[in-house]
Amino acid sequence: MALERLIQKGKGKLAFGFGGNPKAKEAVRGGPVFEVLFNVDNMLRKKWIRHDFEISFFAPMEKPGARLGEKALKMLDYMFKKKRIKKYTGKKIKEFLPDGILLEDGTKIESDLTLFTPAGDGHPVIKQSQNIPKTEAGFIKIDKTCQVEGLEHVYAIGDCVSLEGPDWKAKQGHLAEVMAHNVAHNIVLKEGLIKGKPQYYTEHLNIMCLMDTGDGGALAYRDDKTAVLIPMPVIGHIGKKMWGLYYKLYKTGKIPKIL
Ligand SMILES: Cc1cc2nc3c(=O)[nH]c(=O)nc-3n(C[C@H](O)[C@H](O)[C@H](O)COP(=O)(O)OP(=O)(O)OC[C@H]3O[C@@H](n4cnc5c(N)ncnc54)[C@H](O)[C@@H]3O)c2cc1C
Repeated sequence: MALERLIQKGKGKLAFGFGGNPKAKEAVRGGPVFEVLFNVDNMLRKKWIRHDFEISFFAPMEKPGARLGEKALKMLDYMFKKKRIKKYTGKKIKEFLPDGILLEDGTKIESDLTLFTPAGDGHPVIKQSQNIPKTEAGFIKIDKTCQVEGLEHVYAIGDCVSLEGPDWKAKQGHLAEVMAHNVAHNIVLKEGLIKGKPQYYTEHLNIMCLMDTGDGGALAYRDDKTAVLIPMPVIGHIGKKMWGLYYKLYKTGKIPKIL
């Protein structure tokens, strides 16, 4: 593994970044990149070799992480400074090179190892389809019940759909699950098999993310009223590991759903 080779060498330049999709801002994948970045930083510190590594973060948008709110942005900036991570934002990526990243203004970020997560984009099958209503980015247009616009008995959920809602909305796994439950409910409701009201995914839009930093974590939460990033030293890391274990056991049917 490239990172292990650099660790053996005892020095190196690492760059972590993510891209945006201007046609679908909710498809950005920032959280996981911050998580890997801070975990690598922490691992190098534990090995007492962090001072021989240069870590950079890059993203084309002016304020990556802004969807979590202003306080979260300030905290991220504080963490970058505290952990000596160089930040390059607001400049488009021109080219990935074997030894770095070239930005549109000619800036070159030196890097021996680059980790980049592009934003989500419409699936080629949907982009090429003739009669599925879709956005310019190639995401399926649905209504609040997850029914595909204009196509009765056809529903779509998860990352392949275009989300309606506030600017800070984001495509997340838990939202895909909510949509799946909603669709099952809405189908039997429509068929007259149960009584009640349709369920709307738009009522469950929020961002909840426990960002593991290796030595702790930060809990990010955003909805219409709240935007917080709560630092959780030590416990955040343990909590994320416990969540992973719980999720695996629950999804494999070994324990009942608790949360
Ligand atoms: C790096 C990363 C980290 C993330 N972390 C979090 C997190 O911490 N919390 C959270 O809530 N969300 C997180 N997400 C978002 C979450 O993973 C997605 O929102 C969620 O997986 C969407 O579920 P989905 O079923 O719509 O799509 P997917 O999980 O992508 O499933 C789509 C499936 O369809 C398959 N497929 C694709 N094309 C075809 C084809 N032509 N034929 C057959 N099968 C096909 C794919 O292989 C895949 O298995 C993360 C996403 C990424 C990329």
